Amino acid sequence: MCNQSGGGKCCAGASDRLAGILHPNWLVMEASLGIQMDEPMAFSPQRDRFQAEGSLKKNEQNFKLAGVKKDIEKLYEAVPQLSNVFKIKDKIGEGTFSSVYLATAQLQVGPEEKIALKHLIPTSHPIRIAAELQCLTVAGGQDNVMGVKYCFRKNDHVVIAMPYLEHESFLDILNSLSFQEVREYMFNLFKALKRIHQFGIVHRDVKPSNFLYNRRLKKYALVDFGLAQGTHDTKIELLKFVQSEAQQERCSQNKSHIITGNKIPLSGPVPKELDQQFTTKASVKRPYTNAQIQIKQGKDGKEGSVGLSVQRSVFGERNFNIHSSISHESPAVKLMKQSKTVDVLSRKLATKKKAISTKVMNSAVMRKTASSCPASLTCDCYATDKVCSICLSRRQQVAPRAGTPGFRAPEVLTKCPNQTTAIDMWSAGVIFLSLLSGRYPFYKASDDLTALAQIMTIRGSRETIQAAKTFGKSILCSKEVPAQDLRKLCERLRGMDSSTPKLTGDIQGHASHQPAISEKTDHKASCLVQTPPGQYSGNSFKKGDSNSCEHCFDEYNTNLEGWNEVPDEAYDLLDKLLDLNPASRITAEEALLHPFFKDMSL
Ligand code: ADP
Ligand code: MG
Repeated sequence: MCNQSGGGKCCAGASDRLAGILHPNWLVMEASLGIQMDEPMAFSPQRDRFQAEGSLKKNEQNFKLAGVKKDIEKLYEAVPQLSNVFKIKDKIGEGTFSSVYLATAQLQVGPEEKIALKHLIPTSHPIRIAAELQCLTVAGGQDNVMGVKYCFRKNDHVVIAMPYLEHESFLDILNSLSFQEVREYMFNLFKALKRIHQFGIVHRDVKPSNFLYNRRLKKYALVDFGLAQGTHDTKIELLKFVQSEAQQERCSQNKSHIITGNKIPLSGPVPKELDQQFTTKASVKRPYTNAQIQIKQGKDGKEGSVGLSVQRSVFGERNFNIHSSISHESPAVKLMKQSKTVDVLSRKLATKKKAISTKVMNSAVMRKTASSCPASLTCDCYATDKVCSICLSRRQQVAPRAGTPGFRAPEVLTKCPNQTTAIDMWSAGVIFLSLLSGRYPFYKASDDLTALAQIMTIRGSRETIQAAKTFGKSILCSKEVPAQDLRKLCERLRGMDSSTPKLTGDIQGHASHQPAISEKTDHKASCLVQTPPGQYSGNSFKKGDSNSCEHCFDEYNTNLEGWNEVPDEAYDLLDKLLDLNPASRITAEEALLHPFFKDMSL
């Protein structure tokens, strides 16, 4: 693959399949740039620091280092041409569908460069990979959208080389950000979203670990287009051929749609070269058929990705900058739905005490004429705490649902089939909510209806039901919960509310990384009982305190600057981002012009 600046040597032995479906310039770089390779080293100053602490930790550390070293060796083996160019130093991230490494390279002239190498799991579908690359190449490289330098492939292994942006862990810095920094953070996020939305890219997984932030350099980068989809008029050609989860589910529900051989199901006309690639190459090792059959609803996250035969939980996502562990709690909301799958879940959950129970139906179901059922059959479970056999026989409605539950917009959670770039704006709103409240993650739910119930506790049940009607969904809710005043909520959670009692350091130490709303929480009272991290006092925390959240304290440098006078504009913008109705939700372009950013320029 060519260097974007045009200087890279290209091509020999390039991936004919992948390169072909990208761009003529997209060829795997194999040229040796004459770098002397050292033994691959797994080392980072951060790890070094931890090695000094106790032998147990030391052992753990050594174990981890050995694991990382092994992974690096495996990567060199899988994609040998990497060793001609890079010294892989460390593993910096492991997500559902990739592992990311820090490497250095002596490229052309000039100083050694730091590069992030994203190794995609070998089961990723070529179109998915190609689409991710195309997002990076076409929209990336400016306006806080990550660009790409090279791409390497050997057999099933694809490695995307990007400029490395050293970044902070969101959780580590959350409560030390000044209000001005929060403003800048959000402004820069909208800049990135405006850019990708202009290209008709719906990112679908906007969250802090996909928006890198280097606090010192004030640099930002939106990464991870692994779940991106195109709008109807997308400028990213390959996104037109990325199958949505809806299509996949439809296919897997209807076995007669299963494709055999190497053909892939595409919704539109297949570009000639794509068609040839997938129909003539016997070397395609990942028949799409497998992917379709094996795609199942994970506990969370990236179900929308195409071509997976391995399901890894998004909650297993490890950003190596984050050292906190987030406990998994049992679901707290009773669910009722039309599909068998969900019904099983609902029955299981029905035994537990619930704060709110919800039921989502198409308006069609409300009119008792669901297409998959004989029109004469009327549903008798409407507004009751059960799922009737008519509902059980209905076909599950499918819609894209990728992303991370706590960041999913209501229209995603309710499987609205027509989703737009507005879903990214909702996710940005959830990030903003974390920044203003000092809580991350803000919502923590393991399934969609729980997530929806959690949204209701903030935005109100009546309002949520009302908004859902606008996109054709009817929600039943067991009890009414009022919308909360966003300022009061955030101030209370942040501890800026004078009525909130002061708390001890130990309790506070766990607060910022406790979800504001979790499944354990009584949703109605959830936000009232949480502890406010904003009241940390520097000397409340001692490093190494057994009850303390060590990394919170290490970095902890509460910056109250600006927090005692958060302007109304902040909450007005938050309100517009968390607009339950996607049609009226603020766009990235509009957000940049919002009075909250009045003295900031693009
Ligand atoms: P995944 O699809 O597995 O989530 P991402 O692209 O989000 O992969 O990368 C996972 C993590 O790797 C990110 O959260 C970030 O910490 C790190 N990372 C990714 N790209 C870069 C980059 N260009 N520079 C620095 N770190 C990066
Ligand atoms: Mg990611």
